[in-house]
Amino acid sequence: MIKRIGIIGAGQMGNGIAHVCAINGYEVVLADVSQPQLDKARDVIDRNMTRQVKRKLITEADKKAALGRITTAVGFGAFDDCDLVIEAATENEEVKRAILKELCPVLKPDALIATNTSSISITRLAAVTDRPSKFMGMHFMNPVPLMKLVELIRGLATDEATYHTIKELAEKLGKTAASAEDFPAFIVNRILLPMINEAVYTLYEGVGSVESIDTAMKLGANHPMGPLELADFIGLDTCLAVMQVLYDGLADSKYRPCPLLVKYVEAGWVGKKSGRGFYDYSTEKPTPTR
Ligand code: NAD
Repeated sequence: MIKRIGIIGAGQMGNGIAHVCAINGYEVVLADVSQPQLDKARDVIDRNMTRQVKRKLITEADKKAALGRITTAVGFGAFDDCDLVIEAATENEEVKRAILKELCPVLKPDALIATNTSSISITRLAAVTDRPSKFMGMHFMNPVPLMKLVELIRGLATDEATYHTIKELAEKLGKTAASAEDFPAFIVNRILLPMINEAVYTLYEGVGSVESIDTAMKLGANHPMGPLELADFIGLDTCLAVMQVLYDGLADSKYRPCPLLVKYVEAGWVGKKSGRGFYDYSTEKPTPTR
């Protein structure tokens, strides 16, 4: 039975996962390499819970209790009594492999590991661990407190008990699970990211401006957010990493990352989390950067 959950990476996704786990009664240990990032994550969780209190979705007492269930740590030492660790660090296979190698010796023998990767092979990541049968993909959507879906991905060696425990957890967190096979980027990002990449090509080729592309897709295709606004929200570094996994994994030129996306990432303009991407977020209303 899962009671205590470790989360690795206190970025946009890690703080959202910590939020929903704590609100639903789980003890949470949130770890990152950077203390300032952990402090920032705590502030973001506090602010997001305050918003839920204002909307009467939770009470002030629920918020206080949930925040009390979250502890933060630099390093993985505090994961020794966790029943599950969810890895939500940067979308980079080398980073994730190094994390998993360092993590396994700390864990209880029966602890499960899930990864929130958007695209990387679950089977390949599982093979780095000492427990491939207790490892699987648990892919939350951004922002985690609002989005209903969790994609569940079994690796080749994932056993049924692991799958059922993680599916039950997703349901207890108020989410709906959809199962995907372990192919590059699974279901949501296999479909979503090529659309975003195409939107960046449309900008790159001068077919439309940032504003016209987003307006066209919002009003013309009834999307709640334009593709470039959504790319900024996801993080352009994550978008590029997912396209690269699709391109390498499926060896089809249709997944070639747009050079303009590469350029934005090289500039450090990775979207909302860095204050600038296809929009500049320093102004009251975000200003298009092209
Ligand atoms: P982010 O850049 O906001 O956060 C990544 C965090 O990982 C940072 O705080 C960084 O300090 C930390 N980190 C890096 N190396 C670490 C290490 N060795 N140990 C501990 N922490 C480390 O990224 P994000 O958007 O939160 O994405 C995290 C994961 O979630 C990625 O795998 C991404 O593909 C996936 N994901 C992202 C989205 C999205 O919309 N952004 C949606 C679903 C899944």
